[in-house]
Amino acid sequence: MGIVAENIRKILEDIPDHVKLIPISKTMPEEKILEAWSEGYKVFGENKVQELIRKQEALPQDIEWHMVGHVQTNKVKYIAPFVHLVHGVDSFKLIRVINKEADKAGRILNCLFQMHIATEETKFGFDQDEVLAIINSNEFYELNNIRIRGVMGMATFTRDDKQIRREFRNLYHFFNKLKNEYFSDEFKEVSMGMSGDYKIAIEEGSTMIRVGSLIFGERHYHN
Ligand SMILES: *Cc1c(COP(=O)(O)O)cnc(C)c1O
Repeated sequence: MGIVAENIRKILEDIPDHVKLIPISKTMPEEKILEAWSEGYKVFGENKVQELIRKQEALPQDIEWHMVGHVQTNKVKYIAPFVHLVHGVDSFKLIRVINKEADKAGRILNCLFQMHIATEETKFGFDQDEVLAIINSNEFYELNNIRIRGVMGMATFTRDDKQIRREFRNLYHFFNKLKNEYFSDEFKEVSMGMSGDYKIAIEEGSTMIRVGSLIFGERHYHN
């Protein structure tokens, strides 16, 4: 077994069955993904549209692709035909465009509301009142080609585990509120937890963890 598949296997062994592992293959060469694919692992996530499209075209067509990064509205059309889940939905404008492009592609696109839970200014995501405004609007219910399946969030990059736990807990509380007051059974995903904090995230109710460096090794960015 190759090292990537081995790392995936180890994490899967370690997490409960109800938690889905999304290996994040960003910046990694296609051969590494192919290696894991040949061992039976067929779910991967990317955070840049260009890279996702390139890999989707080059790699086997049965891969389930997750888009976990920020999506610019003018790029939605490229991923609408194949993407399995868009984790980073963070504006009403993007929701409208996803709905339109999904319609053109003859699909219903699964999405998560990305919530801003970290203290850092830089991380994308909605505040709670922004989401409430969207789901209390009439327009939202006329969008037939988008399906909101849950929420996603990234905790602050810190060594303070208590803070990370608090942020994940807040996200889970908001998820529960939305689930109970606005949505039905199809609203069930809480995408939270990365290489450094997935164990805390699972304890706080995560249903999807997005793990990159722990599986593929450290990323080297070339500028
Ligand atoms: C890169 C990335 C991950 C994975 O990060 P690691 O720390 O390498 O596990 C998870 N989620 C998003 C949105 C990312 O961009």
